[in-house]
Amino acid sequence: DADRTDRPKRVLLAKPRGYCAGVDRAVVTVEKALETYGPPVYVRKEIVHNKHVVETLQDRGVIFVEETDEVPEGALVVFSAHGVSPAVHEEASNRNLRTIDATCPLVTKVHKEVNRFAREDYDILLIGHEGHEEVEGTSGEAPDRVQLVDKAEDVDKVDVRDPSKVVWLSQTTLSVDETMERVDQLQERFPDLQAPPSDDICYATSNRQVAVKAMAAECDLVLVVGSQNSSNSKRLVEVALQAGATDAHLIDYADQVDDSWLDGVATVGVTSGASVPDVLVLQVLDYLSERGWGDVEEVTTANEKIAFALPRELRKDLDENP
Ligand code: SF4
Repeated sequence: DADRTDRPKRVLLAKPRGYCAGVDRAVVTVEKALETYGPPVYVRKEIVHNKHVVETLQDRGVIFVEETDEVPEGALVVFSAHGVSPAVHEEASNRNLRTIDATCPLVTKVHKEVNRFAREDYDILLIGHEGHEEVEGTSGEAPDRVQLVDKAEDVDKVDVRDPSKVVWLSQTTLSVDETMERVDQLQERFPDLQAPPSDDICYATSNRQVAVKAMAAECDLVLVVGSQNSSNSKRLVEVALQAGATDAHLIDYADQVDDSWLDGVATVGVTSGASVPDVLVLQVLDYLSERGWGDVEEVTTANEKIAFALPRELRKDLDENP
């Protein structure tokens, strides 16, 4: 419409966006494992939920498997950033696999909370998405004590032994607002419900949501770079729409932008999930620039400085072969 097309074409680029400290650590872990031990390096599940990252590592000699029983006896296997249950560690040890655990330390933190509350005999209500790898790993710490709460209707299905000993924990990559809605619903059923000792939704997830919210209302279209199986990337699309973006789409690559999305659009917002290398965002900016959206303004809501040390099992060998 005339109103929109009269306005200048511009891009608002969210910051922070893209790689978080946990993804960076997991990807570097696999790269260093390839350099140090040589291919093939086995990785259980996608190391991070990004198509480009997975395909690039496959080209370099990584073999992705679904389960450890696909890894030859005695071989090296890396566990993905999303974490694994104790049962998976045990299977790997039974098959004499050498393991490097690239679980994000912020996921490990939630595993420890599950253990602690299970030891204290709490019922644990884990807010998260059914079937997501992180949730499988986290619940696996205490399968008898953890109940998953995904949709609103799950709140009524929860069954606890003692309503005065109930705690909620969560997956690290949820929508902050939606999680708080679920907590309110749980609290109505269980007034004594306890909260996690510190936020389970990680800094990267919440920072990326704050950034996209800050610009969404000004955007006719928001492009979120990320893969379909990336929880935090999908949440960015939902958060953008809830915060007032007219339209929003999740894309892996620039060539997935449908030109019709740009009809009548003045302001395009661009962001990316925590598992997305910035080169993919730059390709989207190039694509937009070729079509008249060359004016790019970064919208900064936080500066992230956090970084994690590589897994100990790997560091040991790196120190010996610098
Ligand atoms: Fe860790 Fe958060 Fe990144 Fe997941 S999104 S790897 S929890 S920092």
